[in-house]
Amino acid sequence: MKRLALLFLIFLFPFGAGAQGEPLKVVATSSILADVARSVGGEYVTVTALIPAGADGHAWQPRPADVLHVAQADLVLAVGIGYETFLGQLVDNAADVPQVVVSNGIPILPFGGHNMDDHDEAGHEEYIGLYGEAGVCADDPHEATAEAGHDDELAHGACDPHVWTDPTNVMIWADNIAAAFAAADPDHAGEYQANAAAYREQLTALDADVQAALAVVPEARRVLVTNHEFLGYFAHHYGFTLIGGILGATTLDEPDPQRLAALVKTVRELGVPAIFAEVSAASPFAQVVAQEAGIGVVTTLYSESLSAADGPAATYLDYLRYNAQQIAAALAE
Ligand SMILES: [Zn+2]
Repeated sequence: MKRLALLFLIFLFPFGAGAQGEPLKVVATSSILADVARSVGGEYVTVTALIPAGADGHAWQPRPADVLHVAQADLVLAVGIGYETFLGQLVDNAADVPQVVVSNGIPILPFGGHNMDDHDEAGHEEYIGLYGEAGVCADDPHEATAEAGHDDELAHGACDPHVWTDPTNVMIWADNIAAAFAAADPDHAGEYQANAAAYREQLTALDADVQAALAVVPEARRVLVTNHEFLGYFAHHYGFTLIGGILGATTLDEPDPQRLAALVKTVRELGVPAIFAEVSAASPFAQVVAQEAGIGVVTTLYSESLSAADGPAATYLDYLRYNAQQIAAALAE
């Protein structure tokens, strides 16, 4: 019966998705992921982002129209690592649509900002393992916390999904996306590979630009306190220490007063020059901590999503370059 239905479909749509000029219909969860997918897919794909630019991915909930979008797609791209907590209910209604987790193969960092005396000399967390192979991440960072039985919200061992803040991880995204597009649309496999290779070169140039922009920040001031903890991979790659997030692992976490008081103390002791908040999430607690510590808050970083098309972070390349410039300007002497 199933085979009959399939034959019928082939009869109705003899060329299949993606062939003969019909672009591959791709749904990506975040606007950042959608932009990378467009760079790899070029003219052979149309990419829709579920979470719109400017929205907070942690707080976003799908609308009825999104269910339809996913059901009609040829392919769904997801960050994985427990980032898309909403995805289950969407793909339940679209069991035939292949889902591709683009972060497979990326070395994964645990959540958990820390005090200066709590880590190795370079301030780096150890990687947990390669995503998709180590299999140690809980679906939801909060679940891992509960299982670990820690009192603090940021239990070590919960996996940090914000891999895109390190451009070398986005190179792995590009390769995984090219492979997924090639599998769905073999006729253009060569083009996808070539686009991914060209995009990797742009990412290499971006990485060098960001490295150069951050050179003005002296060693002692390479400390990051953020509204929610989204810069772990950035910190690891560019040699910064992530002290922690005001809110915690996601923007949905509630800060507890004791942890905020401890954070104020740490910020004072370390002479942290500024606190970084984000455009897409309100940051009243970041303001409070900064005020208590007598420093400023930079509220202009983009975290989960790109800016509008006419904003400063309309593409992933602009997003990272812009964030790095903001960080460099606030932390330079
Ligand atoms: Zn986040």
